[in-house]
Amino acid sequence: MKYDDVVIKNVCCPFCHASEGRVLYTVTASESATHFVLPWQNPEKHKQLEQHLINLWQQNTCQVVCCSSCQGAFSSPFVAGDKEFYDLAYQRSGYPHEKWEFKRALDWVKEQINDIIITEKKILEIGAGEGAFLKQIIAIGGNPKNISAIEYSDWGRKKLQDLQLNDVSYETVPSTALLNKWRDKFDFIFLFQVLEHLDSLDTKLEFLRSCLRPQGQIIFAVPNPDAIYFNELNGALLDMPPNHVSRFSETSIQKMANRNLFEVKLFEVEPLDKWRRYQEFCYYRYMRNTQHPYTTESFISRLPSRWKIRRMFEKLYSRITWLINTTYLGKIQQGSSQLAVLQKV
Ligand SMILES: [Zn+2]
Repeated sequence: MKYDDVVIKNVCCPFCHASEGRVLYTVTASESATHFVLPWQNPEKHKQLEQHLINLWQQNTCQVVCCSSCQGAFSSPFVAGDKEFYDLAYQRSGYPHEKWEFKRALDWVKEQINDIIITEKKILEIGAGEGAFLKQIIAIGGNPKNISAIEYSDWGRKKLQDLQLNDVSYETVPSTALLNKWRDKFDFIFLFQVLEHLDSLDTKLEFLRSCLRPQGQIIFAVPNPDAIYFNELNGALLDMPPNHVSRFSETSIQKMANRNLFEVKLFEVEPLDKWRRYQEFCYYRYMRNTQHPYTTESFISRLPSRWKIRRMFEKLYSRITWLINTTYLGKIQQGSSQLAVLQKV
């Protein structure tokens, strides 16, 4: 797709509060719903989702805007998906066990403290999944009794129980109950691929800041916006609101941090793993093409699901796209993720 690049003047950038940006594109509720649920696969659910998006946005369309001042991008209206959205849009899916940001965050923590005292450190992970990262923290000496987690899926929380953490909560933040329990408590708060799903960033950061001890740190990973721009401009999936509602540029992180009384201690982009990124890109292009009529991908998505016929063709044709898309291989330059550390000042 091509971006509209039309100037808009009445927005409020969630990172730097500037009011001017460029509209990258506009989606209708129906187009957004199709991104999550193909109407010919589940017409009922698609319709429900479309209606729910109209309710969330209070209108039929949503724009993706890039701030002219900090180059962060955000959806307008800036409204995150709620529980009903996620229930309609996603079926249960697995959480990744190994990620670049897990390893980088762990190395960072080891640099900050010495092994002898990590058992004493109070740690919180928000969106902990089934605990893949927290297991690694425990493996380097973290004490489960000093670790708390927030996880919204029942399934993830069930798995987290096995780690015997201090507490596993499912409350949305900011929460007064959690604040009473957690004020000035944590040395480290981790959020991996969480912040891009959330609105009201200032309120969330204020809450997290209150939960940190003096000099405490928030360590978070979000998608690399350059990888998203590459995907969108080359026929792969859109970074569709209201699943993701923001894209963090380095400047936008800086501005957001300063305004909320944090100092940026680290900003790092994931090094490029070309083959993995290429596979991801091919998959996203495949998925995007299922949404257009008259494509092979769309034809396959209409095949009956019985006897795994559709699944078989999907598998076969997605391998074929690895050959079709080779011209993009040289152009892929961006790692998928980026990590930042904000320290309470
Ligand atoms: Zn901005």
